[in-house]
Amino acid sequence: LPLRYRGSEPSVWVEYIQLALDYKPLNLGQGFPDYPPPKYVTDALINVASDTTQHQYTRDFGHPRLVQALAKLYSKLIGREINPRTEILTTLGAYEALFSSITGHVDDGDEVIIIEPYFDCYEPMVKYAGGIPKYIALKPDPKNGKVESSSDFVLDKCEFESLFNSKTKAIILNTPNNPLGKVFTLEELTFIADLCKKYNVLCISDEVYEWMVYEPREHVRIATLPGMWERTITIGSAGKTFSATGWKLGWAYGPANLMFNLQMIHQSSVYTGCTPIQEAAARAFETELDRLGTDECYFVSITRELKPKRDFMAKILREAGMAPIVPEGGYFMLADWSALESQVDLSSEDDKRKDYRFTKWMIKNVGLQGIPPSAFYSGPHKHFGENFVRYCFIKQDENLQAAADILTKWK
Ligand code: PMP
Ligand code: GLN
Repeated sequence: LPLRYRGSEPSVWVEYIQLALDYKPLNLGQGFPDYPPPKYVTDALINVASDTTQHQYTRDFGHPRLVQALAKLYSKLIGREINPRTEILTTLGAYEALFSSITGHVDDGDEVIIIEPYFDCYEPMVKYAGGIPKYIALKPDPKNGKVESSSDFVLDKCEFESLFNSKTKAIILNTPNNPLGKVFTLEELTFIADLCKKYNVLCISDEVYEWMVYEPREHVRIATLPGMWERTITIGSAGKTFSATGWKLGWAYGPANLMFNLQMIHQSSVYTGCTPIQEAAARAFETELDRLGTDECYFVSITRELKPKRDFMAKILREAGMAPIVPEGGYFMLADWSALESQVDLSSEDDKRKDYRFTKWMIKNVGLQGIPPSAFYSGPHKHFGENFVRYCFIKQDENLQAAADILTKWK
């Protein structure tokens, strides 16, 4: 590998998706629904497939009908007119939106602040751009001696402020957060925003789980805070929005001068996205725009559908002897498994990190797959994740029940 990429290793996804294929456990690892997207979404794609006008190249920076729909939606949500031509880019998944945002702004030696635990690709993307990641871990702040909710993990304000300096180029924010499920509050986001403004820092806000937020929490878009539109790029994903992760369609929106830099990266690497997928997503957005905020709106009903699954997952993990951290958003749950250590043969695997050994032992001996959360921490902080496992709960009720049965039988 060229110097810049040297030291890259297969990611946790490469390794754990292969383990799922090899051992066929009940898979609560990688985040995807094990049931179909809403019917109107798959119907949209069926209709597009038989529409002979939708199978050639489309516009470089985003299929016209899709950027129109995105502009309409986010103009409402952000409270300002978003220009579909200059202020939106559609991408190959949120991954490409992240990659274009980072590569389009981070130069050699620039520092980028990353809050841990973080979606793992942020780190290599910053390094490939020549940037220097600066990490801060969310710390447990027990309530009545217990850490039971993702809201019990907080930013240490002094430590956070100490990361900002004249070399700080950007911060990557992720709310709701993967893997913890923390939903940053208005107060926390205001604190972050004020530092971005004070130090002239770009905010890359990964909001792919924007529609999965459990009461009483609400999703706050940092781009809506005073003085933040000018310095924020916000990222979304059709895979998450429509429960169709295989569509690999994402987007970024922000002010034209910032978006220009993403468009330049995009035009020389991907050039243009997949036409039928973008057309189908545009039609799906149009359906939702007509019923935004109503009970039938998928952006409302998805949380209604997920909350009982979240609560069931927390219950079965508690019954199994783990200590779950109940998420305020998203569809992942971390659980502390350390009380079960004596029941697990951690010496049977040779990974350095205990959570890798635990999850591999569970896949091979119990038949249940989770993801090791140390993958979501930087090298010196990996121990923060080692007592935990991440499970995904956007699964059919019968498969969540199967997980319960597996855990009961094992105990
Ligand atoms: N950001 C976060 C926080 C994620 O969990 C994921 C995984 N879907 C992505 C970005 C990438 O999304 P996509 O599948 O649309 O590339
Ligand atoms: N975002 C999903 C997860 O966290 C998928 C990640 C991936 O496939 N790289 O599980």
